[in-house]
Amino acid sequence: MATHDIRDISIIGGGPAGLFALFYAGMRGATAQIIDALPQPGGQLAALYPEKFIFDVAGFPKVLAKDLVSSLVQQAGQFQQPIHLGQRIIGLEEADGIFTLVTATDRFPSRAVIIAAGIGAFSPRRLPQACAEPWYGKGIHDVVLEPKQFAGQHVVIIGGGDSAFDWAHQLEGVAKGITLVHRSDRFRAHQATVDAVMASAAAGRTAVHTFHELADVIAEDGRIRALELRDIKAKTTRRVDCDVVLPMLGFVSDMGVLLEWGLQLEKDEIVVTQTMETGRPGIWAAGDVNTYPGKLKLIATGFAESAIAVNQAVHWVYPDKKVNPGHSSNLAVFGQKDD
Ligand SMILES: Cc1cc2nc3c(=O)[nH]c(=O)nc-3n(C[C@H](O)[C@H](O)[C@H](O)COP(=O)(O)OP(=O)(O)OC[C@H]3O[C@@H](n4cnc5c(N)ncnc54)[C@H](O)[C@@H]3O)c2cc1C
Repeated sequence: MATHDIRDISIIGGGPAGLFALFYAGMRGATAQIIDALPQPGGQLAALYPEKFIFDVAGFPKVLAKDLVSSLVQQAGQFQQPIHLGQRIIGLEEADGIFTLVTATDRFPSRAVIIAAGIGAFSPRRLPQACAEPWYGKGIHDVVLEPKQFAGQHVVIIGGGDSAFDWAHQLEGVAKGITLVHRSDRFRAHQATVDAVMASAAAGRTAVHTFHELADVIAEDGRIRALELRDIKAKTTRRVDCDVVLPMLGFVSDMGVLLEWGLQLEKDEIVVTQTMETGRPGIWAAGDVNTYPGKLKLIATGFAESAIAVNQAVHWVYPDKKVNPGHSSNLAVFGQKDD
């Protein structure tokens, strides 16, 4: 178990609320860190709709979700505070005024905690077919970090959303063969990427099988060699060459242990006061994870809640620091003249 240095504030979740909280903590001179289960920052924006435009973030007439995430990461990055990714929090300990967030491999101690866990920790939705289960990690990969690892291989991508089409497009020219399999002929992906993959299919470089699903995994010498696919309309099967399967079926989210920390809950959301207090001293909640009268689950409100939560937490950790941050346009931390 790796134990990290004690920081002032630990932020659970690197969605928009958590990323803005990380920036804000740095601006207030507090040490902070984000811990997130996903392999990339951005929460729902990165996992569910990276290619969609958002129209109601103040100051942006429209902004791609993935570009907003990049800007938030850049803004928070000014203060070189760590973002620990691929770390799902499974425990919370409290002793001698220190909270320790626990993951499968690491311990993250801090003086205060801000829960910005959105709708819970995301994990990739698994293939429902039992025949797939033994092959996870041995030919079936639901997270792709390095496309080059599939060079020269027959890749079968299962799904009809952005990730499925993005990978079908990006692996062209890298993989030896690409087959896209989807249960219907309706796709939930960016039209430009769908068009590019369909053009590749028309040119015979990619195979697209709509109304098909996985029926069986055909292996030899402990390696996947082919898949049997079932045509769900015609009730026929076909065999396709396959070395690697990439199920791109979206994500499931799970609030998990956060519901067991003795916080007041309403329909799996954490009830907070107008200062984002959870009722457990030293723990605040911001963003989609919290609720109060008039709550709106929006990025804009999440930003404001993060500012409120961080200012409260900073005052809690350093009582001589005011809650009110002053105006950033006057702050010495940005090279400006303090009021
Ligand atoms: C398709 C779609 C379109 C949308 N469009 C808009 C829009 O146009 N405008 C708008 O304002 N809002 C929009 N939203 C809503 C917006 O995305 C959310 O309000 C916003 O993402 C909430 O941010 P958050 O930081 O609170 O939570 P999230 O974005 O959900 O991030 C929470 C993070 O916490 C992590 N986490 C949770 N539990 C744990 C744990 N135990 N351990 C480690 N990490 C954990 C998760 O992995 C996740 O990364 C849209 C949502 C969807 C799904």
